[in-house]
Amino acid sequence: MGYFNYHTHTRFCDGKNTPEEMVLEAIRLGFDTLGFSGHASAPEAESYGVKDVAGYIDCINRLKDKYSDKITILCGIERDIFSYPDDNDYDYVIGAVHSLRRGNKYYSTDMSPQSFKAAIDELYDGDGEAFAVEYMNLVKDVARITDCDIIAHFDLVSKFNGDGENFFFNTCAESYLAAAKAAIEENVKYCDLFELNTGAIGRGWRKTPYPTPEMLDMIRAAGGKMTYGADTHSVTTILCAHDEGEALIRAHGFDGFTRLSINK
Ligand SMILES: [Zn+2]
Ligand SMILES: [Zn+2]
Repeated sequence: MGYFNYHTHTRFCDGKNTPEEMVLEAIRLGFDTLGFSGHASAPEAESYGVKDVAGYIDCINRLKDKYSDKITILCGIERDIFSYPDDNDYDYVIGAVHSLRRGNKYYSTDMSPQSFKAAIDELYDGDGEAFAVEYMNLVKDVARITDCDIIAHFDLVSKFNGDGENFFFNTCAESYLAAAKAAIEENVKYCDLFELNTGAIGRGWRKTPYPTPEMLDMIRAAGGKMTYGADTHSVTTILCAHDEGEALIRAHGFDGFTRLSINK
């Protein structure tokens, strides 16, 4: 068995490369499976959702045929809880939360440290922990709402939570971890596969993947499994921190990465 990755963006949404460039790089690196997960269209994803959905599906299907003797290609979608309904038949769905919402206004957790700080200030008067707890309360319903096969970047809200002026909340705070535990226990009723997501490492924001070590332990205790998602937006990060990620989950008691079981 070679490598696999289920979290791949391309020029159809906010990625830098074409799907074919991603496939060729995956083949070069020894992948046996590559899954595409373009961002579903959503009010909060106006700027980065897939606009040409038919073209996206058609392109991936053509690549499936063209490279069928070299690699298994899957056509998935990354659906947000606020995404527009989409009844296309995808091979799999990644479920995610990227924003908080007030009425018709969306407050992104992952656009930039500046916009994240502004959102915390506006919604919670600078209380990052309260913002993060609300985020986890939304994540609680991500599998039920998106009908996903994989739960993406479970604690994306911590993306810009570093040190110094970018310290927004304590990721070990009791209220935050309690909300995370409740979210894990609710999600496993619908979807037990969580992503070890290295996207923020690939983009230089963090040195560690999602979710945190504390949450890995909670996922295991709840009977969840871990899979790999590079959350890649370029050929350079298609296998970002894969081996380190696998070592990390093994250190937390998982028996390696779990693959999707898909009947194509
Ligand atoms: Zn995402
Ligand atoms: Zn993504």
